[in-house]
Amino acid sequence: MDRSLLHRRHEEELELFARTHPRSAEMAASAKGHLLSGVPMPWMTRWPGGFPVFVDEARGARFTDVDGIEYVDFCLGDTGAMTGHALPQVAEALHDRALRGITTMLPNDDAIWVAEELTRRFGLPKWQFAMTATDANRFVLRFARHLTGRPKIAVIDWCYHGTVDETLVIRASDGSTVSRPGAIGPGFDPSSTTRVVPFNDLDALEAQLASGDVACLLMEPALTNIGIVLPDPGYMEGVREITRRHGVLMVIDETHTICAGPGGCTRAWSLDPDFFVIGKPIGGGMPAAVYGMTAEVASRLEDALSGDAVDVSGVGGTLTGNALALAAIRATLSTTLRQEDFDTMIPLAAAWTEGVRSGYERHSLPWHVQQLGCRAEYWFCPPPRDGAAAAAASDHDLDAYMHLFALNRGILLTPFHNMALMSPHHVRSDVDAHTEVFAAAVDSLVG
Ligand code: PMP
Repeated sequence: MDRSLLHRRHEEELELFARTHPRSAEMAASAKGHLLSGVPMPWMTRWPGGFPVFVDEARGARFTDVDGIEYVDFCLGDTGAMTGHALPQVAEALHDRALRGITTMLPNDDAIWVAEELTRRFGLPKWQFAMTATDANRFVLRFARHLTGRPKIAVIDWCYHGTVDETLVIRASDGSTVSRPGAIGPGFDPSSTTRVVPFNDLDALEAQLASGDVACLLMEPALTNIGIVLPDPGYMEGVREITRRHGVLMVIDETHTICAGPGGCTRAWSLDPDFFVIGKPIGGGMPAAVYGMTAEVASRLEDALSGDAVDVSGVGGTLTGNALALAAIRATLSTTLRQEDFDTMIPLAAAWTEGVRSGYERHSLPWHVQQLGCRAEYWFCPPPRDGAAAAAASDHDLDAYMHLFALNRGILLTPFHNMALMSPHHVRSDVDAHTEVFAAAVDSLVG
């Protein structure tokens, strides 16, 4: 790759972006007044273009910005809007519920419906709510330590499970645990809480769990936060066998891997977790998350949580399980993320994957594209088998260029990744538009 050509092309795209987004530029300038770094959340500084596009409205698989430009949205709120934006049935359920009370700290019938539906989809018999997948993961880690009496957790190298302190770690070359680059203000030495194992490495898992101090292994069944890395054949079965043999609870976080189908990878690959976590898309865009557990785990927890001090157990949250979140999950799961929706989404992801492949193969580039259900992502390297290999191959400048090139042509990809997610509202012409834009971006770099 000719770096000076890449740099020149990127400058041209930055100019085009600034020229075509005057209103967003104005708003980005005034946002600097009272928003830290001019954005609602720190990572929003990472959008391509030098300032974020300000959204006017989002509907289905598209959104329009304040400059009146329409985009095909393959980011979908990094999975939070995988159902498509602004679903009328979710909006109506929210409106109806909002007029009947939002926060009472008491259950309603939606809680029963949702828990039954979660069991039907994912198989685990008992459920609890959280506001976000981060929260759900934090609660599960606490439960796991309580149940096993062990102080540590294990995670996969280069995982991401939200802003959970114990998980913001990577594995150093000597196998020890260190803070993840970018994680700010760690409150403790992460090697005191966490063991890290490479994905697709059962020997390393065996070695770490043999220490006897690990309460649970928290993992995605396929890595989705460092590109998509699929498990080797037999890997997940091996993980289940090793965790069980060492008395380590297996926690599967399906917040992203729900892309595999209506029951996530857990159902598609007959996984058998002790705990199961999912957030993001289940509320159709509303903040809502859930975690499930086996009957055995549930009965042991019910004993542990029967005391008077359960309100300060470290698990909960005043607004958790509020009526809006429950109504949103019910409206979402009863009308979308169903098999028939995946029957639309998965072939679109296959077509997107094929389009990307044809774009780089024309130039014999050693790139790679990986699909998992309705999610697909490309890399600028041959397929990695674990997170460290994927991280080592990341190319910030090339990423930034590909994203901006697409954005300037009406296509939004997921930030930090070269990832596209399909909703039931995407259509084949959206995918074809991406194929064309991707090929043009590659051509612009290699002629
Ligand atoms: N789990 C996984 C697998 C995730 O990818 C993420 C966020 N990308 C989370 C949990 C955290 O989700 P949230 O930020 O909504 O809490």
